[in-house]
Amino acid sequence: MEEEAAFDTRAVAEYTDWGHGDVVSPIHLSSTYRLDGIDPEMSLEDVDPGAGEFLYGRLSNPTRHAVEEQLADLAGGELAFAFASGTAAIATAVLSVVEQGDRIVAFDDLYAGTRRMFEQLFRDRLGFDVAFVDARETDIVADAVDGETGLVWMETPTNPLIQLCDIGAIAEIAADHDAVFGVDNTFASPYFQQPLELGADVVAHSTTKYLNGHSDGIGGALVTDDPHVAEAIGFNQQVGLGNQMPPFDAYLLSRGLKTLGARMRIHEGNAMELASYLDGHEEVSAVYYPGLESHPQHDLACEQMDGFGGVLSFELAGGMAESQRFVEGIETMNLAVSLGGVETLVNHPATMTHEPIGAERRAELGISDSLFRISVGIEDVTDLKADFERGFRALEATTTP
Ligand SMILES: *Cc1c(COP(=O)(O)O)cnc(C)c1O
Repeated sequence: MEEEAAFDTRAVAEYTDWGHGDVVSPIHLSSTYRLDGIDPEMSLEDVDPGAGEFLYGRLSNPTRHAVEEQLADLAGGELAFAFASGTAAIATAVLSVVEQGDRIVAFDDLYAGTRRMFEQLFRDRLGFDVAFVDARETDIVADAVDGETGLVWMETPTNPLIQLCDIGAIAEIAADHDAVFGVDNTFASPYFQQPLELGADVVAHSTTKYLNGHSDGIGGALVTDDPHVAEAIGFNQQVGLGNQMPPFDAYLLSRGLKTLGARMRIHEGNAMELASYLDGHEEVSAVYYPGLESHPQHDLACEQMDGFGGVLSFELAGGMAESQRFVEGIETMNLAVSLGGVETLVNHPATMTHEPIGAERRAELGISDSLFRISVGIEDVTDLKADFERGFRALEATTTP
């Protein structure tokens, strides 16, 4: 593919010559590959999937290799690695860069599963010094990063409070201390945000979300420009941890990636319209969406993102009882965890995604019993608004005697 081709053009291109003129990746299931003979000169290190050479399915697989090339290109990096889940990708990133005794500095508003990984695995079990900081303030990050810091790990925008951090500024802080800077770019997707271009060393995705886009595959990806980081990640994916993406999921991911730009534009258009509709609605006490001018980091969003994404959160006026009634009223939208699929998903963090972190931590983070996160799908937005109206009516019906 010509480098100057636009994102949508590169997204649909096949990077591999499959030998039959295929315009989509075949699903290669073979777990092992026949060799031509015994070659005393050959080193296993020389097996090059890019040249159509394969040895064993854990090390590399043609379908997975193809989607890794597609991921690298779309995320603007040299090398990509596809994993069994976003969680596997993030754990591998951490294990590939930190060394014994290192400090890890992370955003305090991380994806709940990542937060628990950092606390219970890396801090409590493996003994890393993990500092969680309010990364909306770059100065706070600068104060936390020191000479012992091996990794700075951020998400932006975050979940569920849609907070942002300044990727370019934090990249400079990390570089000044020789720390690797990783960004979980799941929420924005490479279509709306390119952390590597802004200075990150490695970018992570739960491909389960927008990249697959159809809620039918669990997966993750890491993309990097740094050859040392890439070597460590590649070793861990193939040998150290063996947590790579299976071929069928790689095929689904490749298929999803082709429509990423088209889907993101609709997700964003719908999210913007819903955010404006909810903003100022009498049953709503707060709306969190970076596309709203009232979002405290709207300017930063305009600077570092090419779009505001498809996820918004809002606070219902009321508490747990009102939240239950609102959910009873909706019909079109699905009450379900996860995000980034074509269908709208309604998440109630207090009882769903953020239930495991406990009430105390939720209160600290500002996650109330009436907070909802909406992964706005690509349905007709008129129907989505009508569904919100049904939810709000269910609320009124019981609050008015
Ligand atoms: C879902 C998610 C993850 C975890 O990904 P899995 O594919 O569920 O393992 C990590 N980070 C963010 C921001 C996510 O939304």
